Amino acid sequence: MYSRWNNYRDYLERLYGCPVYRIGIDGGFSCPNRDKEGHGGCSFCDGTGAVAVYQRKSESGFTHSSAFDDEISQSLLPRLLSIEEQIQRGKTFLSRRYGAKAFSIYFQSYTNTYDSLENLRRIYDRALGTGSYKEFIVSTRPDCLPDDVLSLLSSYGSSGMSVWVELGLQSADDSTLLRIGRGHTSAVWKDAAERVHDHGLLLSSHVILGLPGETIDDEMRTIDLVNSVGSEGIKIHNLHVPGGTRLSEEYLEGVFTVSSEERYLESAELALRRLSPDTIVQRLICETPMHRLAAPRVFPDKSLFLSHLDRAMEEHGTRQGDLYGC
Ligand code: SF4
Repeated sequence: MYSRWNNYRDYLERLYGCPVYRIGIDGGFSCPNRDKEGHGGCSFCDGTGAVAVYQRKSESGFTHSSAFDDEISQSLLPRLLSIEEQIQRGKTFLSRRYGAKAFSIYFQSYTNTYDSLENLRRIYDRALGTGSYKEFIVSTRPDCLPDDVLSLLSSYGSSGMSVWVELGLQSADDSTLLRIGRGHTSAVWKDAAERVHDHGLLLSSHVILGLPGETIDDEMRTIDLVNSVGSEGIKIHNLHVPGGTRLSEEYLEGVFTVSSEERYLESAELALRRLSPDTIVQRLICETPMHRLAAPRVFPDKSLFLSHLDRAMEEHGTRQGDLYGC
């Protein structure tokens, strides 16, 4: 579909011979960066987590407080039942909307390794026991990924299913990570990324372009760090400022501005050119619902932005990886 970069949808179709759809699940997890021992949460975190449109909070049955939780309040059984319901709802929605026949399980919301090893095993087992899946994807933080959890995740690959760990980095610059309250350094992320690979798992790196105070050179250093660990996948997006967050207070005070489409097109094109040609590009734009978004308020939707980016790269004669290693 898009000719200038190695996009995930095409990769899945090549690998499995058909389109594969991810079922996003809210497993009722919390986040160590948001609890009382944490660092106050990321400055852009509005406490709603990333939830698929068909798995809204009112339907998942979980009430994730926007205050900082000290512990996971839900007992395990309701979580397991909700996970089964969410998977069924996801399959129904994706089948009706897209005619989907092949699926992946995606633990998407909050920090999906933030629990005891035994609870994680039961949660993952219950989700994967609901059917046959092409990929198993777990999104988490680099400071919440001990080796026993990695070994557990690795065990699910024995059936031939691809197992991905999605690891939030956002920036390679420690001063930026401190400023946005990530609660970890780039060294912690790199160590976790290497341990993901030591356990035979696939790595997807999350990166934000346009963070406060960052230049395009800073952004390219982030891409270089992703390249340095041989990340199989990357999720890039422009900075979104959700309302009611610490970041939105800074934004309203005029401390920083968000990227226009033109600025983000420039960043995204350069990031793709700098990126390893082998890395699968799993996302290039953020889709925060407008009712939660303080900025940017004017930005093209996903398909329009991607078509603009594809056309710009075609006009410039550029493609993913043509500046890799330069
Ligand atoms: S890691 Fe995710 S859930 Fe945790 S504070 Fe940051 S954005 Fe929020």
